[in-house]
Amino acid sequence: MRARAGGRHVVIGGLLNGDELSRRLEAAVAKADEDQRVLALTWLSVFESDGRGGRRWPGDDLLHHCAERISAQLSESDVLAHLGGSDFAVLSASVEHHSDAVRFAREMLNAFRRPFIGNRPTDRVRVAIGVAVHPSDGHPPGRLLHAAQAAAQRAASAVPERRGRLAFSSPELNTERFRHEQIRTGLADGLAHEEFVLHYQPILRLPGDEVAAVEALIRWQHADLGLVAPNEFISVAERSGEIVDIGKWVIAEACRQARVWQQAELPARMAVNLSPRQLQEPDLTDYVSAVLNETGLHPELLEVELTESMHAEPETAIAVLRRLHALGVHVSIDDFGTGYSSLSYLARFPRDTLKLDRSFIAQTTHDSEVAAVVGSVILMAHELGVQTVAEGVETEEHLQFLLDHGCDLSQGYLHSPPMPADQAEAWLRAHGIAARVDHLAVTPVLSAS
Ligand code: C2E
Ligand code: MG
Ligand code: MG
Repeated sequence: MRARAGGRHVVIGGLLNGDELSRRLEAAVAKADEDQRVLALTWLSVFESDGRGGRRWPGDDLLHHCAERISAQLSESDVLAHLGGSDFAVLSASVEHHSDAVRFAREMLNAFRRPFIGNRPTDRVRVAIGVAVHPSDGHPPGRLLHAAQAAAQRAASAVPERRGRLAFSSPELNTERFRHEQIRTGLADGLAHEEFVLHYQPILRLPGDEVAAVEALIRWQHADLGLVAPNEFISVAERSGEIVDIGKWVIAEACRQARVWQQAELPARMAVNLSPRQLQEPDLTDYVSAVLNETGLHPELLEVELTESMHAEPETAIAVLRRLHALGVHVSIDDFGTGYSSLSYLARFPRDTLKLDRSFIAQTTHDSEVAAVVGSVILMAHELGVQTVAEGVETEEHLQFLLDHGCDLSQGYLHSPPMPADQAEAWLRAHGIAARVDHLAVTPVLSAS
């Protein structure tokens, strides 16, 4: 294998070189075929970034540190080779499943995120990782190394300034199934590495265009997949239980942001989506009140949105919601009209707001029956002393319909899509906050009991 750092050859003791790796690979491929097992080859190209788009190859000391860092991730059956320059490869023969190769590569990526010790600005060490898998890559065994290298080069060309990157060589590793696999196996790391972000969508009080609240909507800035929408990972996180920790992060981050905005004279209520699973956690109320205490956010400025179809264990959910409501936290029923048990539960849930699902709003302008239902739901909500929010308001016609039927609040692309915090702040400033709540400046000490 040719060295990349200007032909410089550094020999790192105890590691195979390129020729030795090729021989091992040949034998390992034959063995994998015989045992009908999967073989993964992970190519790692290490470099230093100057933070301004410039790159240089690491010096010898740092290369040794990198080799140690890689070695620390290996299992006994993995083989590490130094291919010259700043390129390394790991041959993994004990791969049960493709997802193991994905997980291994992610762990490697994470290992490089920890700072390196040395006399350079060593927190800028980056790694581009390419993964090729035999037999499914469709490459002849002799091409496996090239396939992994090509993937690493693709990854290297797309390394964002602040992190490493991963690419897979085979179409199979890029399929939906693998995307799902990456999402499933990456959730905990995503949380640990602060890859989740919240975007904020304004909710306007009608008539007019003042902001009553903002809804916090999570996105995942995934190291390899880019920005992933919640519909792709929330249900996965629910099944795995990781939604509980992710949801806690959402609550803490949204409250922190709401408090920042409150202090900046933008006291919009912050609406946070809760998943059914979170409502089965009896300590949710304690957690929320602890966050409110820590951030100093008044409970009235927090709203929880729960989807209507969440009634696996309604008794626990109702008890948790009642406690939250007793703290002063607002409760809204999201996607109203899509669940199967709306009316019976509506009577038992504490609720301040109903959010009319956007599928209904979309139909109001061309389906008179849906329009009649939506109009009646608004009336019914008002009878119950509950406000209504229309979701998915996209056109002036939708808005006119809502104004005609006395809907209280409106949310949708017509006003604004969800935005990152800085843009949302500018938006709030430009539009103003409805019904300022100045007396909320003094924050009470809360108790969840
Ligand atoms: P949701 O709570 O009903 O949020 C509204 C969704 O509608 C958001 O999608 C928003 O971007 C989208 N939307 C807003 N205005 C319009 C519009 O005018 N037209 C159309 N077509 N769409 C509009 P998003 O952000 O992709 O979120 C999807 C769902 O993911 C949310 O639906 C919510 O159920 C869930 N979700 C988002 N963030 C979280 C979270 O932090 N925790 C939990 N448990 N679920 C979350
Ligand atoms: Mg919502
Ligand atoms: Mg909704």
